[in-house]
Amino acid sequence: EAKRRGRNRAVAYRAEFDTTVSRRLQLISEVRAGLERGEFELAFQAQYTPDGHVAALEALARWRHPLRGLLEPAHFIPVCEESGLIVDLGRYVLREALRERRRLVEAGRADVRIAVNVSAAQFTDDLHRDVLDALDGQPLPPGALELELTESVLMDRPGHAIELMRGLVELGITFSVDDFGTGYSSLAYLKRFPIKRLKIDRSFVQDLDADASDAAICQSIISLAHALDLGTVAEGVETEAQRAWLRDRGCDELQGYLWGRPQPLDALLPTLRRH
Ligand code: C2E
Ligand code: MG
Ligand code: MG
Ligand code: MG
Repeated sequence: EAKRRGRNRAVAYRAEFDTTVSRRLQLISEVRAGLERGEFELAFQAQYTPDGHVAALEALARWRHPLRGLLEPAHFIPVCEESGLIVDLGRYVLREALRERRRLVEAGRADVRIAVNVSAAQFTDDLHRDVLDALDGQPLPPGALELELTESVLMDRPGHAIELMRGLVELGITFSVDDFGTGYSSLAYLKRFPIKRLKIDRSFVQDLDADASDAAICQSIISLAHALDLGTVAEGVETEAQRAWLRDRGCDELQGYLWGRPQPLDALLPTLRRH
């Protein structure tokens, strides 16, 4: 009896495993088709200076799925990373983000930098080529495009990362460290990477008011960044209290739902436009 039950369980497990695998394969082919059919688009979220000026817009991928509606990255980035499709998605995002930047320039806001997230699988020697392709011969003013890398992407092969980044810096690109504080970056390397900004992870900002150690972490990141001559961007600012706290401690830029959800550029342009 026990044996039979064990086998049934194994069969049930096997079936569940097969469904998971086949659903994943299904999703991979849907993403591939979606990329070909142009179902992906960008939402933008502003990064504000403490006095309320838009310093940057972060491009965030969205998938307008024909049946499931507008999907956020949690639904497709993991499967893109596993399958290598992130490289194709990344190329699309770079190209589209730079195209949207041209509209920003036409609206008189060449001063607003564009930030683009880069995954580990994209962060190879091919990235240089991909950026050049996306630029399409157009010059890039220094600082106009920032690439956001996580600590794990940087620390995987630090020497290689530095080399790759230097080549991109020559194209006018800057770098920030996304989700800072959640990974394991070495302070020794932090100063060797050509980075401009640390983005304080949302998890520390979230409980700023309630959790003394989170407040201490935010304060330390700001001090560390400034000591290394780096800027700071706080992610996930949702309350007025968080905004005030971060501003009072010299955080350079703030980003979060307090100013709204990520939106298509069209929705943001009217307030950005400068005559
Ligand atoms: P991220 O780069 O850390 O982006 C910030 C995420 O936090 C975004 O989620 C944004 O909508 C969300 N967020 C912003 N402010 C708040 C807030 O006040 N409260 C809360 N709870 N959340 C806030 P989203 O758009 O779902 O993106 C999730 C992640 O997916 C991004 O995290 C990034 O790692 C990845 N991602 C998005 N677009 C791309 C892309 O084009 N390429 C790559 N490689 N990754 C991407
Ligand atoms: Mg980011
Ligand atoms: Mg982040
Ligand atoms: Mg993230």
